[in-house]
Amino acid sequence: MVNPRIAEILRSGQPDESLVVQGWVRTKRELKGFAFLEVNDGSSLANLQVVINEDLPDYAGLLKQINTGASVEVVGVLVASQGKGQRIELKATTVKVYGDADPDTYPLQKKRHSFEFLRTIGHLRSRTNSFGAVFRVRNACATAIHQFFQERGFLWVHTPIITASDCEGAGELFSVTSLNLKDIPKTENQAVDYSQDFFGKPTYLTVSGQLEAEVMAMAFSNVYTFGPTFRAENSNTSRHLAEFWMVEPEMAFCDLEGDMDLAEAFLKHIFKYVLEKCPEDMEFFNQRIDDSVLATADNIINNEFERLTYSDAIKLLEKTDVKFEYPVSWGLDLQSEHERYLAEQLFKKPVIVTDYPAQIKAFYMRLNEDEKTVRAMDILAPKIGEIIGGSQREERLDVLEKRVIAQGMKPEDLWWYLDLRRYGTVPHAGFGLGFERLVQFMTGMGNIRDVIPFPRTPQSAEF
Ligand code: ATP
Ligand code: MN
Repeated sequence: MVNPRIAEILRSGQPDESLVVQGWVRTKRELKGFAFLEVNDGSSLANLQVVINEDLPDYAGLLKQINTGASVEVVGVLVASQGKGQRIELKATTVKVYGDADPDTYPLQKKRHSFEFLRTIGHLRSRTNSFGAVFRVRNACATAIHQFFQERGFLWVHTPIITASDCEGAGELFSVTSLNLKDIPKTENQAVDYSQDFFGKPTYLTVSGQLEAEVMAMAFSNVYTFGPTFRAENSNTSRHLAEFWMVEPEMAFCDLEGDMDLAEAFLKHIFKYVLEKCPEDMEFFNQRIDDSVLATADNIINNEFERLTYSDAIKLLEKTDVKFEYPVSWGLDLQSEHERYLAEQLFKKPVIVTDYPAQIKAFYMRLNEDEKTVRAMDILAPKIGEIIGGSQREERLDVLEKRVIAQGMKPEDLWWYLDLRRYGTVPHAGFGLGFERLVQFMTGMGNIRDVIPFPRTPQSAEF
């Protein structure tokens, strides 16, 4: 028999039920003749209260061993709780200590710790209320994403992590090599001789699975990727990681309108799902982290996103009295402060900006008739800025080739990508969602390092 988890016991356990519970002690309170333990097994924010009576064998020795952080197995019987704060509690008949935790050295004593401090104990921080809630919500977000696409018949495709295409231009690349860095083979003109490297050419960690997702969409119509991506960007911000997860749907026979409709329905679905599956954790974020979290979720689910063109967004930004650090003018990319102004202050809800100038967007985005703008769309969220970036892709071979050349790339290097336009090309579109940005947005967590279990950032890969 599988023992029920604590979440389940708190939800539906009944008095007189005999149970075995395994978990970690959050707190111990000793009173006259008995002691209370709060035990957590990660299944919920709430702990199970365990009552240990002094008539248990070696009561004093047991209590000495049980401190915050100790791992225990409690066999006992559920009883209706006399105290406030819980419906039921577990009256222990036996308690086994798997491992104690020395109160003089265990860093997670019962008090509030700063997120900065908790980052220095990345191997232990998941045992706190905040990180427990974050990682349960993260899991629910991932489940919601798969559910959304699977229900709509999208194929989940696995795109490569090691890639030879350095042409996406999405960010700085990490090189992948098996060359001996102490003795790098050189060509006659002193360049690195990649013909001797593992793949016979330079390779990198992928910054996006989009190009490969397009390949798969040209066979399966609707596909999505959900995997790790890497950017060696040396930007120490609260919204950038060197290793993060991306979700990239790609749809054949789809234009930018269809892309935006899907993206909006997608975000609404995830918020609904998480509110339904993790109400207690979401309440916790609203109380402890950011008191606008529940209102934001409600706002996302119940309002239509604002849609406007880049050109209109620039006009609005030029009109405002708000002073920005970075300049605003047609042709310049929107900075995070501009994005946040639009979403947070002006419209007070997610905003979809479309039709950006071609020169600031990637080569594969479909050129509009004005030949100045492309069918791109970014979804800007309050507090986060860009959360989704997408576009209708250029499906016309001649136009795409010109754009490739204009951006200084060689069509030969992209031969397989161009082949998709040579053989059975169709209008198609897709987007990329930064998974950690979504979790940040959902939970109100201020720093992206605190929504992934093991963050990778400049100078930091400890755990
Ligand atoms: P930003 O301007 O915020 O750096 P970007 O324009 O580089 O974003 P894209 O290349 O469009 O972003 O990537 C798709 C999505 O991936 C973004 O909308 C964002 O949610 C997320 N993202 C991009 N870079 C990072 C990063 N370094 N860490 C975490 N998420 C990221
Ligand atoms: Mn970037």
